Amino acid sequence: MTEFAPPVQPHDPIVDAVGRMVNVLFGPDRATRARTAAILLCAIMYGICCSAAYYAASIDLMRPFAPKLLLATSMPAYVAFYSLVRFGKTKQLKDPTLMLPQNIFALLAIAFAYTAVGPHDRGVVLVLIALVMVFGMYTHTPKQSVLVGTMAMLLLGMSMGILAHVDPDYYPPDLELLRFELMLGTVPSLIFSAYQISAWRNRLSAQRKDLRIALEQVQKMATHDVLTGLYNRRFMQERLEDAVKRFDRYGERFTIVLIDLDHFKRVNDQYGHKVGDQALMAFANASGIVLRETDTIARWGGEEFIFLLPNTDARKALVALERLRQTLATCTVSEAVPQLRVKFSAGIAVHDTITGLNHTLERADKALYQAKSEGRDRDVAAPPEKP
Ligand code: GH3
Ligand code: MG
Ligand code: MG
Repeated sequence: MTEFAPPVQPHDPIVDAVGRMVNVLFGPDRATRARTAAILLCAIMYGICCSAAYYAASIDLMRPFAPKLLLATSMPAYVAFYSLVRFGKTKQLKDPTLMLPQNIFALLAIAFAYTAVGPHDRGVVLVLIALVMVFGMYTHTPKQSVLVGTMAMLLLGMSMGILAHVDPDYYPPDLELLRFELMLGTVPSLIFSAYQISAWRNRLSAQRKDLRIALEQVQKMATHDVLTGLYNRRFMQERLEDAVKRFDRYGERFTIVLIDLDHFKRVNDQYGHKVGDQALMAFANASGIVLRETDTIARWGGEEFIFLLPNTDARKALVALERLRQTLATCTVSEAVPQLRVKFSAGIAVHDTITGLNHTLERADKALYQAKSEGRDRDVAAPPEKP
């Protein structure tokens, strides 16, 4: 029979080249790419505004030096913003897109442009304040939104007042007053909206974080034992069923070890329930240290534990249990009872037939019973199943 390999997607050199270019220009990861894209978009908008300023100066609507100054300040500023973000220098900051410095720079540019446009047309520049605030409302904190809006009003209000006083011909006081009033009538509502959107965004992300933590806790509670931190019976049952499926399909054998602590009632009776709990935790810790990462350990009930040891035969399981016994022999359970040691009996069963999980568990249980009846503190392996 011929086996067909899955078709290999041929590399398209153009797609590869475009991918490399995107990486070089925007950055290596998704978050950086989103940030650099936002900065490049702003840089393009500044480019368009500068060209509009050049045109306005050419038809005498703006002072001639203004476009040059706008270009000479905005482009270096954006090269700096882009470089810092593209090369990951802002990753650790609370504001990795540098939205606040960008907004403050934009307000200074707007205030400057406002003063450079001719007396009758400069009102148009005020519209740009809305653009700055809308851009920032999706990244700023509520406080930052208020700061940016208030700064815009103060900066422009002061410019209007001072210039109307110093040069009333170019800045007619009545027109400046009218524009100031218009600004007062619109910017506060923008500040309010920006504040609400920022606060709503903050609440949403706090709720998402709480939900994620709660979900993690619920998942942990559903799969772990509270006292020992080991997996619980329900989780182990699923792992055992998975192991059986792998055995049925690929023939991967596994071994089950059922463990019951010896004379545990006595521990509780003699030293109290708290020391009993400490003994259970000591056993859980020692098992975690001794067994492999690929093994699964669970609390099966009261003072009973179960190990699932994949690709392990009875002989290897016995070696692991001996190591565990030696570890427990040196392990202090409780400072209050330094002489106390945890001892256990174990029943081992290798799952190597298709007789089902319950049958293997019963074999392990019988072997454990035998270990108890033979005097405890020992391991018994169930005889292999006949094929
Ligand atoms: P054996 O060697 O035959 O197993 O004797 P044993 O005393 O361990 O057996 P038995 O089943 O009679 O006692 C188990 C004890 O384990 C009784 C119960 O109070 C105690 N136990 C079960 N769960 C906990 C627990 O979470 N904390 C504490 N401290 N004790 C527990
Ligand atoms: Mg018991
Ligand atoms: Mg017991």
